[in-house]
This record gives sequence, C-alpha cells and structure tokens, in this order.
Amino acid sequence: MVKENLASIHERIESACRRAGRDPSEVRLISVTKTKPIPMLYEAYEAGERLFGENKVQEIVQKKPELPDDVSWHMIGHLQTNKVKYLMDTAAMIHSVDSEKLAAAISAAAVKSGRVMPVLLEVNIAGEESKFGLSPDEVLPLIMKIKDLPGLSVRGLMTIAPYTENPETNRDYFRKLRELAVDINEKSIDNINMYELSMGMTGDFEVAIEEGATFVRIGTAIFGERYVI
Ligand SMILES: *Cc1c(COP(=O)(O)O)cnc(C)c1O
Repeated sequence: MVKENLASIHERIESACRRAGRDPSEVRLISVTKTKPIPMLYEAYEAGERLFGENKVQEIVQKKPELPDDVSWHMIGHLQTNKVKYLMDTAAMIHSVDSEKLAAAISAAAVKSGRVMPVLLEVNIAGEESKFGLSPDEVLPLIMKIKDLPGLSVRGLMTIAPYTENPETNRDYFRKLRELAVDINEKSIDNINMYELSMGMTGDFEVAIEEGATFVRIGTAIFGERYVI
C-alpha cells in the first residue's frame, strides 16, 4: 500500500508543479514516519524515498540505525534545548527553530561535533494559539540575533498551516510565508538564505507547491492514519 500511495503522491506533486510552471526537482518529499513501525519505513525506502521526517528526537535516534545510511532524517517537531545534542549524529536538517535559545544550543552542539546544521525557522503563519513558531514579525529580529552563530546555517522557513478540509483556505498562508522569505532574502544578510520553504502536508500539499514549497511533509497520505496509544 505504501508503494502505491507514494506513486500517487509523486504524480500529484508533479501535476501541482506543472500547474505552477515549476520543475518537479525543486520539490522534495519528506515522508513523515512518526509513530510508524520500521517495516513501513522500509517499504517507503524500497519505493525510493530517502527523506524521512520525525517530530521526536527519541524516535529519530531509535529509527536511524535500523535504516540504511543514505536516509536523511528531518527533525520537524518542537525541540527542547537539552535534546539538541542527540541530533548532531542523526539529523540532516532541523525545521523547527523558533527561539534564540534553541538556535544557540544547536550552534554550540554543532560546533562541538564539528558540523554545520542546516535549519529552518518555524513560523506560526496563521497565529494559531495551539501552535509553536514565531509570529511573522519576529522572524527578522531573530535572524539578526542568530546570523553570526557558528555551526548553524539558516536555509529558509517552515510552517504548519491550520488543519483544513479545504486546502484553498491555506493558500494565503503559504503565500505569506513565501513573501516573508522573499523579503528577507532581498536584504542579503550574511550567512542567511531563504531558499527553502517547508510547507504543505497531506491535506494541503498541492496548494503549498503552487505557492512555492520546496519541502512537503506528508504522513497520513503515505502511511495511513496514526493511532495514538
Ligand atoms: C505529522 C506532521 C506532518 C504530516 O502530517 P500529515 O497530515 O499526516 O501528512 C507534517 N509536519 C509536521 C510538523 C508533523 O508533525
């Protein structure tokens, strides 16, 4: 089933790219594997997927040794500073930086392990109370505070749009995230680029692609519903 689901998602990604006049190679699929068992991850791996997303540090740490080394693990969930060190050997990118304190912790851990960690800044673009992330007007001030941190490479923005039955209702939010990234890019701040936009999930990824997503994070449409125990 996973294989068929992935084939259909890749077709939908390509159609969305065609509609938007984009090259499908600009959009990378992150298979969101949180709560899912290793055999299901293998099905996705065997279907050709190499980017996996998890929202808990512990799950990345446990699952990484079970999969081949050419999997890139993306940390997409809220992150506490005391867990950052476990991501240095495991994560390819952190999508959820939303404070100076967290950025500083990632910087320190990255320097210590001799690597540079690519990160995205998480923006609560719809201003939902239940969500983590910066408000749009906090993004530039945070960038000015963290731009000189070593070991950290800011690559763009991430958002979790509101849950919706009608993806069109999120189009404006995706557009706003892109405009924010463009505005910041135009300032040409050293060490900062805003080329990556991590936006779009099962319910709204096609609209997100039409509005400029470079990463879509999809779980349910690949692996089915998550049952929380
Ligand atoms: C779970 C999760 C997703 C995937 O959501 P689906 O609706 O199952 O596709 C994407 N992004 C984040 C941050 C998540 O936690």
